[in-house]
Amino acid sequence: MDKYEVLNRYFGYHSFREGQEQIVDTILLGKDALGIMPTGAGKSLCFQVPSMVMEGITLVISPLVSLMKDQVTSLVAAGVPAAFFNSSLTERQYLKALEFATVGKYKIIYVAPERLLTARFQSFVQKVNITMVAVDEAHCVSQWGQDFRPSYLDIPQFVDTLRKRPIITAFTATATARVKDDIVKMLRLNAPLQVVTGFDRKNLYYEVRKKQSKKNELMDIVREHRNESGIIYCTTRKKVEEVCNLLNQEGFKATRYHAGLEIQERKENQEKFIYDKANIMVATNAFGMGIDKSDVRFVVHYNMPKDIESYYQEAGRAGRDGESAQCILLYSSNDVATNKFLIENSRQNNVMGVEEEKARQKMMAEDFRRLEQMNFYCQTTECLRTYVLRYFGENVNEGCGNCSNCYEKITKEERKKRMIASLDGDLLAELKRIRKKIATVQGVPAFVVFSDATLYDMCRKMPKNDEEFLEVSGVGYKKLQQYGSEFLKVINETRP
Ligand code: ADP
Ligand code: MG
Repeated sequence: MDKYEVLNRYFGYHSFREGQEQIVDTILLGKDALGIMPTGAGKSLCFQVPSMVMEGITLVISPLVSLMKDQVTSLVAAGVPAAFFNSSLTERQYLKALEFATVGKYKIIYVAPERLLTARFQSFVQKVNITMVAVDEAHCVSQWGQDFRPSYLDIPQFVDTLRKRPIITAFTATATARVKDDIVKMLRLNAPLQVVTGFDRKNLYYEVRKKQSKKNELMDIVREHRNESGIIYCTTRKKVEEVCNLLNQEGFKATRYHAGLEIQERKENQEKFIYDKANIMVATNAFGMGIDKSDVRFVVHYNMPKDIESYYQEAGRAGRDGESAQCILLYSSNDVATNKFLIENSRQNNVMGVEEEKARQKMMAEDFRRLEQMNFYCQTTECLRTYVLRYFGENVNEGCGNCSNCYEKITKEERKKRMIASLDGDLLAELKRIRKKIATVQGVPAFVVFSDATLYDMCRKMPKNDEEFLEVSGVGYKKLQQYGSEFLKVINETRP
């Protein structure tokens, strides 16, 4: 099978996105690659497609247990033979999986970095042909980043244990030069192709609201997004509790996440959100790393975060499926004071040498400078997207047409026009309902069945038969087989 067949047959997509094909081609030529692309750009496909074209097994190193499980579930649902090896498996399950893997049952295996040098895993890899090692969230190898994982440093040593050096690829959304250099050096990439795509997430709508009552604003937003997934970020745990209670009192299904909860409860709440048992997650910034829920339709910042980096990352958890999503920041001047307080506290230091004190002052000055930039974002009347992109050093033209400041400038007429362009809400709701039903029966998150993007495309294309159903973006052969008739039935019933 060639790359297009794989893209089409398994993933149900008709074309590659920016950067993807270049990386796929490089891999197929047997060369290393480094992809630096924003969240939602489609990094996984860059290594998943070639792994299905090539012989042998691709190992994917990924930092988070929950993330691995969701990705593998999605792959299996698409008909790709995949498995994961991590601490969530029992001893027996692990042995069984290793046995299957040894006889070549899986093309793609996700593995936790901690396992790479263990005796069992070593004995497995010596028996098979590992063609590629793909390092996902590769910034975890860098001590400069905030997600440093010491066991990522085992990767080169692991590669050395293999009989033949595999292709090594690395992927991240972190684009600082230091992190990039670290990845190339630490993972010993061999003259890798480096693909850096822009930071812009065109499908995200950015807005800043400065209203008297944040509570009223929040109610408006969640009402508008009834039954859609959303995250609400608050600065403090106390605020998380308050907002979550409020939403539940008002009849919304909200759950919560912050570092003050027991690990078990955090895990449960996260699953509630991923499986759509609660459609709203209220959380501190402790929530999000490793959340791969592609259908988050809105991210509200109930408080202004401490810098643009945090804001971009947190807001960026919306709309990973490429469909439109809203990122709304509720601003009040109190947020500035709270952040100042938090910065001062986090930079507290009791052992005070002269040098240490100097370093502390310097870091604090940096933090305050970043806070100021965040505050400017909330004050500017210029295009919000342009502001963020320029902050990250991208050279862009003013005026995106998809943020609250740009909206202020366009006419009412134009705004109305954009609203009509929206989709048939009844059909969409009905499609979501069967998706949820199927997901519940199969015990998988709804987006594993079909992403929101795929349901939207169904509404747009209104397929009549199997052949047309395959034309819908995100429908591959396996999904047609499994779900085609149920979805087609609903679509055909609503046809006028
Ligand atoms: P990243 O890891 O870069 O954050 P993902 O790999 O999770 O992004 O992909 C985000 C979403 O985009 C997924 O729902 C994926 O199926 C979808 N996607 C990826 N590539 C394509 C493509 N070529 N066409 C359509 N959708 C795509
Ligand atoms: Mg990813």
